[in-house]
Amino acid sequence: MRLPWLRHIRTRLTLWYVAILAAALLIYGGSTCAIVLLQLRTQVDQLAIEDLETVEGILTFGADQKLHVREDYHDHPYSEEMEERYLEVRAEDGTLLYRNEHLGERALGGKPEPGEGVNTYSPRSGRLADGTRIRLISRQHMINGHPTLIRLAFSEEPMWQRFWQLAIGLLIGLPFALGVAGAGGYFLARRALGPVERMARRAREISAEQLGARLHVENPQDELGLLAHAFNETLARLEQSFEQLKRFTSDASHELRTPLTAIRSVGEVGLQREGNPEHYREVIGSMLEEAEHLGRLVENLLTISRADSGQIRLQKSALNLTPLVREAASLLEVLAEEKGQSVSIDGDAAIGVNADPVVLRQIVINLLDNAIKYSPRGGRISVRIGQKDANTVCVEVEDSGSGIPAQHRDKVFDRFYRIDDARSRDAGGAGLGLAIAKWGAEAHGGKLELESREVGCVFRLLLPVS
Ligand code: ADP
Repeated sequence: MRLPWLRHIRTRLTLWYVAILAAALLIYGGSTCAIVLLQLRTQVDQLAIEDLETVEGILTFGADQKLHVREDYHDHPYSEEMEERYLEVRAEDGTLLYRNEHLGERALGGKPEPGEGVNTYSPRSGRLADGTRIRLISRQHMINGHPTLIRLAFSEEPMWQRFWQLAIGLLIGLPFALGVAGAGGYFLARRALGPVERMARRAREISAEQLGARLHVENPQDELGLLAHAFNETLARLEQSFEQLKRFTSDASHELRTPLTAIRSVGEVGLQREGNPEHYREVIGSMLEEAEHLGRLVENLLTISRADSGQIRLQKSALNLTPLVREAASLLEVLAEEKGQSVSIDGDAAIGVNADPVVLRQIVINLLDNAIKYSPRGGRISVRIGQKDANTVCVEVEDSGSGIPAQHRDKVFDRFYRIDDARSRDAGGAGLGLAIAKWGAEAHGGKLELESREVGCVFRLLLPVS
């Protein structure tokens, strides 16, 4: 469960930032203290070694075989300092030979440990009986021919005091440093994320009616600028699709209204006067013709909307192209005959494609239907099926019609686009045939090209070879 005050990114960012900074400062402070402690201890060891050498010079065995501090000790330049050290001297067997005043009754360790101070200075840390922390250096020396172990110790209390002063100073400073950094971090995060809030507010205002509105891009180079730009691009695409959809709906309604009005008016006129069966047959015939047109239109609209929503799944199979084209042409034979047109089909029967036969047949029918519609009486339509290159097969439909003027060539593939509205409508076209053919070609990974000549035009369907 997320706490309500953690809702904002700026709060979470600041908390993360403060937590990471605290961890970094603790690691840094801890290692600084440890280094300082080690350095101080090394210095203490160094001092202790020097002092131990001095001590060795002022010890001597008297005639009574007892250890004495030399008479001139008090004149020694280090004498005062030496009094602050803890000093203990033991014989090889551990017998206590000397302890200075400062140490008194306290012991600097018991019997010599094995190898302690033999040819080297042995340092170690410990505590006196009263709990004082000390740093002890010991070394074996021959004094007047007697092997003795000299132990010299410094109190570590001043060193630990300095350590704790440093550590506590750092710890006290930590919350202040984190507070300042946190406040700065929060301010920066708030500033940096400000545009996001403004973008969200603006985006909330954009509704379907205002798809033309765009987010304000404050700095196109930074991440938020890129986000705003991407959002604007999405809006532009949405606007375009929305416009397309609106246009499609209004064009479709318009197209549907025309045959419906025609059916109604033919029916009304037919009913206005009493007539013989011949008259009614004529009226019903006209109505059926319009109904057939309406049916075709609805069929095309359905194809387009199902293609748009991705509902059409191509059922591809290996096909021979020429027989399929011949079959499609035979369906339109009557129309061509009515206009006294000739339709020739040339092609290698073996040319094959991997395609959906229903969609492919629809493409060929649409192209042939147009060629017949827009070619004059007695015109010539020729279909050539061949291999364009190693990877592409081609179906060319050439007619002898009026051709398509250059300014319309790109647009004829748009939905509901007709060059000559009246002529095309009379011919029964709603401007969907080429749009469907183009979609079918592209769905198969191919394309539909148009080449218009002085007389007639050529539609070229290119498909990948099977
Ligand atoms: P329609 O159903 O109106 O024929 P199409 O999408 O098939 O719709 O064609 C769009 C427009 O392109 C037609 O209205 C017509 O003006 C033009 N057109 C299509 N094919 C030909 C052609 N073979 N010759 C001349 N014009 C054509």
